[in-house]
Amino acid sequence: MGFQNRRDFFKTSLLLTAGITGISSKKNKAASLDGPSENRMGVLVDTTVCIGCRSCEWACKTTHGLPTKPIDSYLDRSVYDKKRRPDEHALTVVNEYDNPNNPLLPTDVKVQCMHCEEPACVSACIVGAFTKHPEGAVTWDTDKCIGCRYCMVACPFQVPSFEYSKAVQPKIMKCDFCFERTKEGKLPACVEVCPTEALTYGNRNELIEIAKQRIKRQPDKYYNHILGEAEIGGTSWLYLAGQDFGKLDFPKLGRDPAPGVTEAIQHGIFSYFIPPIALFALLGSVMWINRSKNNGEEK
Ligand code: SF4
Ligand code: SF4
Ligand code: SF4
Repeated sequence: MGFQNRRDFFKTSLLLTAGITGISSKKNKAASLDGPSENRMGVLVDTTVCIGCRSCEWACKTTHGLPTKPIDSYLDRSVYDKKRRPDEHALTVVNEYDNPNNPLLPTDVKVQCMHCEEPACVSACIVGAFTKHPEGAVTWDTDKCIGCRYCMVACPFQVPSFEYSKAVQPKIMKCDFCFERTKEGKLPACVEVCPTEALTYGNRNELIEIAKQRIKRQPDKYYNHILGEAEIGGTSWLYLAGQDFGKLDFPKLGRDPAPGVTEAIQHGIFSYFIPPIALFALLGSVMWINRSKNNGEEK
């Protein structure tokens, strides 16, 4: 078993204390392997059991040193009056949608970086500030970032945000899959805090099997699709829902990885350096001809 939600994690901790290593040793082993995707970790988000408590938002901010209000204030559901996106103040947000199957039970959807298997942000970044790690996380190096924001344009999920409010050295912000925590064998902060186990952390392939089993066991409850299994080459974060993902503001994406498109844009940008150079040459020639003509007339 290579997956863990909060309850499993506590169980594992107890087992470890007793000297019986199982899940965690497997997890650490996976982390040390050099990039085979079958060992990648992920999170399964089951929106059908999410209650929209937003504890995940609070835990994420607390873990990453972002300013936050007391956890009690997160119970205020007026926040759901509008749809939000992750930004420089919140690496993850939860949005709420009508549920056509049960009007009394809205669908709550946690949003953050999807940690794509073939991330467009990595291929778009011209200074190599982004890294896709063998364990699954996509992280970025603020020291390398030059603030070009190509990653923001390239991301099919519109995730990276920019610290517009910072005048000095603004940087790109996004969920880092709690890279430092998971390196130490801890759960991502949002997974650890989730009270309904709507979030399950584990081996991506095993999570896909769990998701398939849930759909098979309760076909009336689940929409028959695992978002992230195949979209744009697959993502580390996977979603289950009780309704069409298009109604939950997920973009409709094909199976082809996005970097192909991104690279085409990049190559386009560089090839477009040629026309400006040609234009400058043309303008220079016109100015030179005009100046010569004026000189001739003056003479
Ligand atoms: S969701 Fe966007 S930012 Fe996250 S890994 Fe994919 S392309 Fe990069
Ligand atoms: S994995 Fe970590 S950084 Fe990402 S949303 Fe969860 S708590 Fe935030
Ligand atoms: S902590 Fe869990 S139940 Fe609460 S909003 Fe986040 S994902 Fe949903």
